Amino acid sequence: MAEKESNQPADFIRAAVIEDLKTGRFTRVQTRFPPEPNGYLHIGHAKAICIDFGIAAEFGGKCNLRFDDTNPVKEEVEYVESIMQDIRWLGFDWEDRLFYASDYFEQLYEYAVKLIRKGKAYVCDLTADEVREYRGTLTEPGQESPFRNRTVDENLDLFARMRAGEFPDASRTLRAKIDMASPNINLRDPVIYRILRASHHRTGDAWCIYPMYDFAHGQSDSIEGITHSLCSLEYEIHRPLYDWFLDELEIYHPRQIEFARLNVSYTVLSKRKLLKLVQEGHVRGWDDPRMPTLSGLRRRGYTAEAIRDFCERIGVAKKDSTVDLALLEHCLREDLNKRAPRAMGVLKPLQVVIENYPEGQVEEFDTLKNPEDLAAGTRKVPFSRVLYIDQDDFREVPPPKYYRLSPGREVRLRSAYFVKCVDVVKDGQGKVVELRCTYDPATRGGDAPDGRKVKATLHWVSAAHAVPAEVRLYDRLFTKENPDEADEGRDFLANLSPNSLEVLSGCWVEPSLLGANAGVIYQFERQGYFCVDPDSAAGRLAFNRAVSLKDEWAKIEKTQRSG
Ligand code: ATP
Ligand code: MG
Repeated sequence: MAEKESNQPADFIRAAVIEDLKTGRFTRVQTRFPPEPNGYLHIGHAKAICIDFGIAAEFGGKCNLRFDDTNPVKEEVEYVESIMQDIRWLGFDWEDRLFYASDYFEQLYEYAVKLIRKGKAYVCDLTADEVREYRGTLTEPGQESPFRNRTVDENLDLFARMRAGEFPDASRTLRAKIDMASPNINLRDPVIYRILRASHHRTGDAWCIYPMYDFAHGQSDSIEGITHSLCSLEYEIHRPLYDWFLDELEIYHPRQIEFARLNVSYTVLSKRKLLKLVQEGHVRGWDDPRMPTLSGLRRRGYTAEAIRDFCERIGVAKKDSTVDLALLEHCLREDLNKRAPRAMGVLKPLQVVIENYPEGQVEEFDTLKNPEDLAAGTRKVPFSRVLYIDQDDFREVPPPKYYRLSPGREVRLRSAYFVKCVDVVKDGQGKVVELRCTYDPATRGGDAPDGRKVKATLHWVSAAHAVPAEVRLYDRLFTKENPDEADEGRDFLANLSPNSLEVLSGCWVEPSLLGANAGVIYQFERQGYFCVDPDSAAGRLAFNRAVSLKDEWAKIEKTQRSG
């Protein structure tokens, strides 16, 4: 960002765009975001979306949304719809420029015919296994297919009959005739059409042959007049093939520029793996709040602003790297600290009786909705003789530096009074079940007129007024920074954390939260940010913890333990 201020382009892609506009290679900027509708979008896609839509907007250009829907077996309308919803939610708009590679199936077929006519494509009868065997390896050249030298007429005839449905699935393919000895395996006569009887989410049963992704992607960009085809690094090795198609077809040529894929620690970002988590029931669904999908992050309590901020901070580089999950959490805390209304919620309740507070009396305290945003105004919090505080806020024998409540000690109840613990009630097992306290009426509002200080301020709710809630605490889904690091014969699932979800029932939240809508995010004071889950029903709120506040005590305790 410092670079932007000095008028330097922020990254190498923007530098290339500026250069292209200066040299006249392009006179406008047109990008696209090209998802395959075979899964939900994840945080890695958010990076690509911010780059594609962001760069177009910065240069007064346009960005299309195009579904690269060439594989009917894996694609579904559900995915198409979720992808559109997620892009809009992130804050981007493709206006009237919604396209599908399947819109171009007829054109792509014509392109294939053109290659055949030029002697640059042939129908091959090898099976998929044989094609693989003939392909060679990184160190050995491939072998030419025995069908490579069919005549143009024979190829035209066979390809037309493939389309007409005369041959069984997978019995033949159309292949580009390039170079079986190329060091780049992508150029060893890649398959460009296959026979596949599968209903397509848009074209239905109109086709029984489908173009391969690599044959559709570059040409679709060309058809749309894309100037800068921005994509992740794994496509770099496909670029010579895309170039070959465009050159042989003699059609408009976009410029492809690759950037590093986003990887996040303790997270998997491959749709195949995310699908596995969903299908095998390791999570509740694509929008499980532990998933790195945009729908999961949203349900968890992530905001579009925080995700866009994250994408800006990680920047655009050419080399793959892994970003710390903590940065994403940091971006969320920063955003929510400014915006989230405050509330008091007690997750593990411990009952407190204020012995000298009159039975039946109720006071309402006016409390700021958000000290970071005074314009948000105040809320009313009721106080009475029986309260709940969190179990963590009491220790019968306080360790050093533990300043919260303990026998004989005085603390502040946020916005209310100073209270002092005078007695501890235990059950038969010796477990503390209730605290008896006294309050000082002179400290109303939270300060002592005699100037006496307390070292801790606790959150609390009034037992008679609080609303019951279920709270779901989430931790990393994987125990390893790189979940793919697993023992021989095991995969990323071996690193699933057994502690990624803890459900707390019997929590209490202040009554102002009654009826809160799904998706609304609160800061539970001293604890973290909590988002109302769609599972909430009338009188039964459910919250997801999006992220905790930095817990100072937890830090002290940790250093004490390790010290
Ligand atoms: P996967 O390999 O998990 O299936 P994909 O790359 O095939 O993901 P697409 O739907 O093709 O998923 O992705 C659409 C766009 O998003 C592509 O341009 C791709 O480069 C980009 N993209 C996907 N994953 C990431 C990532 N982790 N970081 C940055 N960009 C990504
Ligand atoms: Mg892809």
